[in-house]
Amino acid sequence: MQDIGPGNALSGVSVAEALEAILSQFAPLEIVQVPLADSLGLVLAGDIKSDMNIPPFDNSSMDGYAVQSADTEGASGDVPRSLSVTGYLPAGGAPGPDDRVRTGTAFRIMTGAPIPPGADAVVKFEDTGQMRNAEDVLIYHRVTKGENLRKAGGDVREGETVLRAGATIRPAEIGVLASVGRAQVPVHRRPRVVVLATGDELVEVDRKPGPGQIRNTNSYSVTAQVQSWGAEAHNLGVARDNREDLSAKLQEALALRPDLVVTSAGVSVGDYDIVKEVLISMGSISMWRVRVKPGKPLAFGHLGGSGASRPVPFLGLPGNPVSSMVSMELFGRPAVMKMLGKTRLQRPIITVRAAEPIESSPGRENYIRAIVSREGDHYVARSTGAQGSEILTSMAKANALLIVDEKTRVVEAGQPVRALMLDWPEEVF
Ligand code: AMP
Ligand code: MG
Repeated sequence: MQDIGPGNALSGVSVAEALEAILSQFAPLEIVQVPLADSLGLVLAGDIKSDMNIPPFDNSSMDGYAVQSADTEGASGDVPRSLSVTGYLPAGGAPGPDDRVRTGTAFRIMTGAPIPPGADAVVKFEDTGQMRNAEDVLIYHRVTKGENLRKAGGDVREGETVLRAGATIRPAEIGVLASVGRAQVPVHRRPRVVVLATGDELVEVDRKPGPGQIRNTNSYSVTAQVQSWGAEAHNLGVARDNREDLSAKLQEALALRPDLVVTSAGVSVGDYDIVKEVLISMGSISMWRVRVKPGKPLAFGHLGGSGASRPVPFLGLPGNPVSSMVSMELFGRPAVMKMLGKTRLQRPIITVRAAEPIESSPGRENYIRAIVSREGDHYVARSTGAQGSEILTSMAKANALLIVDEKTRVVEAGQPVRALMLDWPEEVF
């Protein structure tokens, strides 16, 4: 077991120090090709160039008539021009070899259809009228050259870079990738995270706890966190507080070839020994006291790595349900983001005003569950109430964690405070 930095065994490490040490052990995962439809939320691992002009050909932006603009000179509602309709082009149609819009003629054309040779503008239907004989059209409005036309390459030119490596693939990127013909997309592989709870007191969610027992909540909340960040999560259930079960469950975890193993509980002073022993026997682990509230105890290191298998990063979260979620948010999420290939590893942090005095515990960086809302032209924050690390409903109420530094005892009403936005619900705007 090692601690980082001198004197840390007593005072603990700061959140920033712990995060830096953890992140130094992660890198973006290998580049793989995935089907376009599976790439949502992943990070592009190469620049994407277009294989063609978009749009590929000059086409109409309106339903109407393709004309020679000179033929519409002076046309108005009172003095319409009459043109004879000599062709029709629906979307998906293409002009034939002899098709041409000549002086005095027009082609009926639909949005997205190619502009036939000879035409240089489109008069939209609303500016036209029908003669009694259907072969002629009345033009009520003059058009200028190029009007209602979309030029080939107007959005993207052939060979142009449309997306850069490092971009997160959102629905718009999916659309752009589709438009340039990318059925397979180069991305950083999705991380696999195994979640293991520990504790003799835990029963599963479908059981009524007996005397001294509680329901296992951490497996579910932490697994859901991992999923919500776009990684693949495996919930491995509960390991009991003995060497045999814990080491068997950790072996089971390693057999899934994970990129990260996360456990909850068993890293506080009370349980130190068994867990410490098992972890050290299976790899190299540091146990820290992090100057953070909630969530002081934290373990980090690697499991396995002997023989052919590669060492797997390991994060040991504290057991209290709020501590476990907040620690996962502060240390697990950035690691997952880094493996995904993201360059921004942190949630948005904004400065808000305390709507009421907010108490904090000096000596540790406090992450206070809070509700950020909008009042007029600024954002204000209110505590969710009691802040005990077992009060999981505080996480359910919160949309933010207020970050209060190690020196502050109370943030007075009206004072600025930093808010790490866990979520940005619609009603906050
Ligand atoms: P420990 O870190 O093992 O000392 O656990 C700290 C507290 O967290 C104890 O009250 C445990 O009962 C509780 N706890 C541990 N694991 C879980 C879990 N998976 N779900 C809910 N509470 C837990
Ligand atoms: Mg325990």
